Amino acid sequence: MNKPLPNSIEARDVAYHLHSYTDARKHEEAGPLIVEKGEGIYVEDNNGKRYIEGMAGLWSVALGFGEQRLIDAATRQMQKLPYYHTFTHKGHGPSAELAEKLVNMAPVPMSKAYFTNSGSEANDTAIKLIWYRSNALGQPERKKIISRVKGYHGVTLAAASLTGLPNNHRSFDLPIEGVLHTTCPHYRTMKKEGESEQDFAKRCAVDLEELILKEGPETIAAFFAEPVMGAGGVIVPPDGYWEAVQPVLKKYDILFVADEVICGFGRTGNMFGTETYKLQPDIMTLSKQLSSSYMPVSALLVNEKVYGPVADESHKIGVWGHGYTGSGHPVGAAVALENLKIIEERDLISHVRDISPQFMKRLKQLGEQDMAVEARGIGLIGAVEFAHEKAPDVGAVGGRINRAMQERGLISRNMGDALAFCPPLIISEAQVNEMFDIAEAAVADVAKDLG
Ligand code: PMP
Repeated sequence: MNKPLPNSIEARDVAYHLHSYTDARKHEEAGPLIVEKGEGIYVEDNNGKRYIEGMAGLWSVALGFGEQRLIDAATRQMQKLPYYHTFTHKGHGPSAELAEKLVNMAPVPMSKAYFTNSGSEANDTAIKLIWYRSNALGQPERKKIISRVKGYHGVTLAAASLTGLPNNHRSFDLPIEGVLHTTCPHYRTMKKEGESEQDFAKRCAVDLEELILKEGPETIAAFFAEPVMGAGGVIVPPDGYWEAVQPVLKKYDILFVADEVICGFGRTGNMFGTETYKLQPDIMTLSKQLSSSYMPVSALLVNEKVYGPVADESHKIGVWGHGYTGSGHPVGAAVALENLKIIEERDLISHVRDISPQFMKRLKQLGEQDMAVEARGIGLIGAVEFAHEKAPDVGAVGGRINRAMQERGLISRNMGDALAFCPPLIISEAQVNEMFDIAEAAVADVAKDLG
């Protein structure tokens, strides 16, 4: 990117805006890419250049950009009741309806929905519910939480602690006490010499059990995991992983929180990752595709095992002392309801299953190009990892490919040297081909550059 012109929107952005997940000093030099509008799977910058949004924004715009029914749902709700809260026995139609809808959609028995505004808040709230429950049950020592190396659960203090990535801890004085990380289930990088995928999966479960025993099972409250790891590099669990891990949790009566923030609402070819991997979570955290990110809304579903003691404790104290101004926001809830209606009406789950074979075929082909090390994915989420001896620093080759893709009109995201693909669920087969054609050309550009 060129240095921003004086008084341009780029220059004003540099002058006033601290960006998420950005090197702030580099931003002062490079400036932003200003995205102005979007339609379907495409977005357009303020110079009229069009890009395929290969990440659906942040793994989230299921219905693509410019879905009129979502805009109408928001407008109608804004006109009727633009805001009301859900504290102190108050409520409104959209939050009650969305709670009912989500509890009924859940693939395992759930009792209640609780609303938050982001994935991080949903996971933070899950931890608070879990701690509150332990106290309610007279088990105050049962507070430790286990998540996984390379897991991603958000960036608020507790959620960032759950996240198992160094950049979310370094210089933030995190993780907080009592959050522990177990083995990352990435077969290629974590397997031992000669170890089969099944054996590796079993070893992940053994590692988890050893950690539990070392810490004391009576001190472990919950295990948090994404069905498929997203921001850690799109890590699809090895064969037999969930079959091996879940019995360990059961054995020690440890609650299981499925972070469905990316997997939820169709991404893996079922409504939830919980169905794809036959999970039995006690809590599910939901966001992103819940509203196609048209409004910030997130939710937790909790089963009776969680709700019961929490309800009793709140009755004893006289209040469940938790809540956000935006919890159950009527506009967010109305948009989420319409979004879910569209996903069901258009049977987007079947669409994902229809498109996925071509998506996976092209992903694997990209994974056979120069510099590619591994392709992995499921449904409509995938990543291809690259390496080159002339760009050995972590993220060096990934960053180059990412820039080359953007140059050619495809927005992806490099997580280290893995390039992610997570397009809107509405993508067509022709558009899948268009996306991977650009990706292949960009990889060829970089391969040529590096020689
Ligand atoms: N959990 C998962 C699995 C996520 O991918 C994310 C966001 N990428 C979060 C939680 C955090 O969500 P938010 O950014 O809305 O706080």
